[in-house]
Amino acid sequence: MPRRILRRIVEDMRAFREPLKMLQFIGWGEPIMNPHLAETVTYARELGIANDIELATNAALLTPELSERLVVSGLGLLRVSIQGLDTASYAEACRTDVTFEKIVENVRIFYERRRDCRLYVKIMDVACGDADGVRRFHEIFDPIADAAVVEHYVPFFETRDHYERIAPLTRTGDPEIPFAICPFPFYTLYVWPSGKVGPCSSCSGNPLVLGDLNEETLYNIWSGSRRAELLHHQISNRNEIPECRDCRIPTLESRPQDRLDAAREKLLPLFPRPPAAAHS
Ligand code: SF4
Repeated sequence: MPRRILRRIVEDMRAFREPLKMLQFIGWGEPIMNPHLAETVTYARELGIANDIELATNAALLTPELSERLVVSGLGLLRVSIQGLDTASYAEACRTDVTFEKIVENVRIFYERRRDCRLYVKIMDVACGDADGVRRFHEIFDPIADAAVVEHYVPFFETRDHYERIAPLTRTGDPEIPFAICPFPFYTLYVWPSGKVGPCSSCSGNPLVLGDLNEETLYNIWSGSRRAELLHHQISNRNEIPECRDCRIPTLESRPQDRLDAAREKLLPLFPRPPAAAHS
């Protein structure tokens, strides 16, 4: 993502009445490959546009120098995704020649220098292999993380051939109960590297787009008619949105407290279809 877009995001957020609850540098790709990341976190802290700032990384490029810069920048939470428990697993999962020992060393150095920043380290259950793998993960990372967690692997698309072999649980291990209304568009905006803005980091090859930061402000996209129409359709019938129809993200990623389904009748009059969309 270009520096211009990063600064635009931070500056645009001053238009919101309250600071964001969370500014996250996550999604597709590896955020710490961006050379402007630490300065963007610092800028966001200076402008006070978010209560908390979070970053997700695989830690392969988390040098001691970058760890220091991120801690000083005011980062609130570093989330590290572990891809395997030995070098061969990394070669297979990531097609990279980084050693597992290097990943552990990078995590350990960040932990020692983290000051007020929290360090969350997670691995997927399938990457542990078995109970011995889970035990080994905790032996290695419990002493060098504020939280070390084994999450459940969830396939977002039912078309994946291994879907039948995965237990029907959410990522956090709760029973999988389908969400009719996706809660994400009600509290999230996702900015793609191009400046396009959507409600989520959709896995679809054809992601939902609500606007473009190169042409309009983040606040205008948030309060605009395209998002209003999306919220209306989420409540009235999510299947009317082609990109959302088969999406399993709300069911697999949402927390039970975010479920809006039981409030559908109350919500419908609060989120009417915007006039321009109603007459199109
Ligand atoms: S249903 Fe999926 S594609 Fe639609 S807004 Fe929710 S997460 Fe995004």
